[in-house]
Parts: sequence; structure tokens; C-alpha cells
Amino acid sequence: MLVDRFGRIHDYLRISLTDKCNLRCSYCMPYDLPNGFYANSTRMSAEEIFAIAKTFVKLGIMKIRITGGEPLVRKEFRKIIHLLSELPVELVLSTNGVLLDEFIEDIKGARISSVNVSLDSLRPDAFLSITKRDFQQRVMSNIGLLLKHDFNIKINTVAMKGVNDAEFVDFIRLTKDLPLHIRFIEYMPFMGNGWHKDKVITYDEILKIAKTKFEFEPLTNAPHSTSKDFRVKDYLGTFGIITTMSNPFCGDCNRLRLTADGKMKNCLFGKDEMDLLTALRNNDDIETLILESVENKHEVMGGQFDKEGYLKTCVSDIDNRSMIGIGG
Ligand code: SAM
Ligand code: SF4
Repeated sequence: MLVDRFGRIHDYLRISLTDKCNLRCSYCMPYDLPNGFYANSTRMSAEEIFAIAKTFVKLGIMKIRITGGEPLVRKEFRKIIHLLSELPVELVLSTNGVLLDEFIEDIKGARISSVNVSLDSLRPDAFLSITKRDFQQRVMSNIGLLLKHDFNIKINTVAMKGVNDAEFVDFIRLTKDLPLHIRFIEYMPFMGNGWHKDKVITYDEILKIAKTKFEFEPLTNAPHSTSKDFRVKDYLGTFGIITTMSNPFCGDCNRLRLTADGKMKNCLFGKDEMDLLTALRNNDDIETLILESVENKHEVMGGQFDKEGYLKTCVSDIDNRSMIGIGG
């Protein structure tokens, strides 16, 4: 079992297939990637992803999320999900939804039944301004396709003050007749993403906006859930808030990450990395390295945030990759 010094059991691994993307979300992909994208030779091959994932599963991982960058732009996407589907785990996917229509049968074939789709605006012009690409209608149509195929669908919306807060009510309204789970994510700081505490809309503020239009009930959260969920009376879907900045959920964290260049990160916000890919290529024992990384996990927010209040942290003090380089 993967247990850290604080007794937290880790059974959930998020694997980034690539640091590349077909969108340019300002909060995720820095305008200026200081070192560019990873060279192909530094990215894990399909077989290497499988070998590392298999070791994690042997150590107790029960759920794997395929993410990125945008996982669907990875050339070997089909091969990778096919390989991973052989492991005895729950396999789930995070995507921006742009290419889903091309891969829907492969995703079903890999027995993925739950898909998280990023969508920050319901307005094509605002979507274009946030992502720099004109794909809003294609994403909406692909969410429709997922619904048609009965996937469990979570919509991830990064809540940004003055950018999409006027649309929260419209997002929640979508859950009236559609079985969607909308999750507003508090805006998080990463290298080069222009984060400032004034751009964060917190849990309390989002609820205040929701209360202006809806009557809703809190739902019981699933174990290790990062989202506090609600349902508007008689609505089919739900909405939730991921409170990483105002109320982090580190005490219950069960997540580990593997970057596309094969580095294990035991926390999204930590600077510590364990180079599993080089070790694998050298035929070294990666099991020991994984256990060592879990053992050294910090108690809260990668040990880098101001414990007096996460929103007080100065982003320039945080040593970490960009979100696109980590894998969301
Ligand atoms: N390309 C896929 C997608 O967009 O869903 C997967 C990767 S993306 C990095 C995973 C998730 O991280 C997305 O839901 C995205 O909105 C979220 N994300 C990225 N940067 C973020 C930030 N600075 N604050 C909050 N959420 C962020
Ligand atoms: Fe690409 Fe997803 Fe990052 Fe947007 S959030 S730039 S879609 S990886």
C-alpha cells in the first residue's frame, strides 16, 4: 500500500500523456514556455507508461485518470488507453472535449465510463478569448455525444473573476434537464499563468451567486471527493465547487501524479519530483522510488503555501511547473 507519514492511503494516479494541447487556456498554458515542449525522447512511450502504471497498480493504485495537456492530441492515445484498460483499475479521462467525436468508440472500448470535460464559457466569443481557439460549439456538440452514449460527465469550469462569473447561473441552469455535474474550480496559481488572488472567486462567493437564483441542497460527498456538491431542487444534474484555494482538502488526499516526461509528483503544488522514467530506462527498481516519494509527501499543499491563508501566498514564491507541464 502507498501510505505516507500522515497515514494517507494513495490509490489514485493521474497520468499525463502529453504537455501539448490544441487549446491555449490562459490559466494553464503560459504564453511563454521557457523551455518549450518536451522533446519526444523525454516523453514516456506507450510501453513505458504501461510499465510504470503497472508498478503503481501493484503497489495499490485502483483508479487511473488519463490527462495532459490534452490527452487526445497524443499520437498513441488509442494504443495507450488500450494498454491501460488491461490493468485492474477504474480508468477515467480528462479532456477539453474538442476531439471527442474522433475517439468516442475507442474510449468506450477501453471501458472508460466517466469523462471530465473542461468548459469555461457557454459563449463562443468568451470561449475564444479564454482558450484562443474557436471550438466552443464543437465542445458543446461533443458533450451532447457523451450524453447520448450515457457517460458520467463532469464539466470543469475554472472560476475567474470578471471573466466567466456572469455565466455561473447559466452553467447551473444546464443541470435542470441534463444529467451533468458542473464543477467550478477555484483558480489556482502555477508558473506563468498570471494568477493573482484578486482573480480567485471563492466557494462562498460562488454560493452567493448561486443563491440569487436557485434553491439547492448539499449532497453527501464521495470519499476523497475534491468537490463540495449541491443539487437544485428537482434538477437532474448537480453542481459543485472545488475549493483548493479557500479550503484545501489535503487531509484526505489520495492522489499521485505522473508527468508526461515520467516524473512522479506526490502533490500538484509540490516542487519535489521523482524521475521514474530515467530509472525505468536504466533498469533500476522504480518500486522503491515510488514508495520513497510517497513517504516524503508534505502534509499540506506541497509545503509551499502560506499556512496562514492560501490566498495570501505570493505566486512568485512558488517553485513548480506550469499546469500544462504537470498534468491536471
Ligand atoms: N486538457 C484537459 C482538460 O482541459 O480538461 C486535461 C488537462 S487540464 C490541465 C485538467 C484540468 O485542470 C482542467 O479542468 C483545467 O480547467 C484545470 N486547470 C488548469 N489550470 C488550472 C488553474 N490554474 N486553476 C484551476 N484549474 C486549472
Ligand atoms: Fe489545454 Fe486543458 Fe490546459 Fe486548456 S486546461 S490549455 S485544454 S491542457
